[in-house]
Parts: sequence; structure tokens; C-alpha cells
Amino acid sequence: MECSIMQERQTLQITCPDCGCNQMSRPDDFHFDTNFVDVFCGDCGREIFKDDVISQATNTVKKQIDDMFRNTFKGGGFKLK
Ligand SMILES: [Zn+2]
Repeated sequence: MECSIMQERQTLQITCPDCGCNQMSRPDDFHFDTNFVDVFCGDCGREIFKDDVISQATNTVKKQIDDMFRNTFKGGGFKLK
């Protein structure tokens, strides 16, 4: 369980909240959990904070759930018995 969470984080796309660029400059010893510092947007130079990434990830999950429900309703497969 823990392992799959780690893998998701490693592939997590970080997008700049200001310009939408996803090229981030990160220090060599960057670590999501313990060393989330000195992360900057490669385009506009905005500093990216852990909270930015977490809120983006939360929005992504919400959207996936929304899509899932929408598809379920669209297919007519969701019926109350
Ligand atoms: Zn930017």
C-alpha cells in the first residue's frame, strides 16, 4: 500500500498555479515528504509549495471521481434496486 503511494508521488505532475508550466527546477536532494524546499517554476520562477501540489492532487482526484460518476450515469448502469 505504502509502496504504491510512493510511486504515485514520484510520477505526480507538478503544475505551476500561475502559468501552468510543468517544468520545475528542483534541488538534487528534493524529497516530497521530507525535503520539499527550493522548488521553483522553470518558466516564471514562482516558488512551488507542498500545499500547491497537494491541492492540485486533490482536485485531480475529485475530477476523476466526478468523471467516474458521470460515466456510470451515462451508461445507465447505475440503478437502485
Ligand atoms: Zn510558472
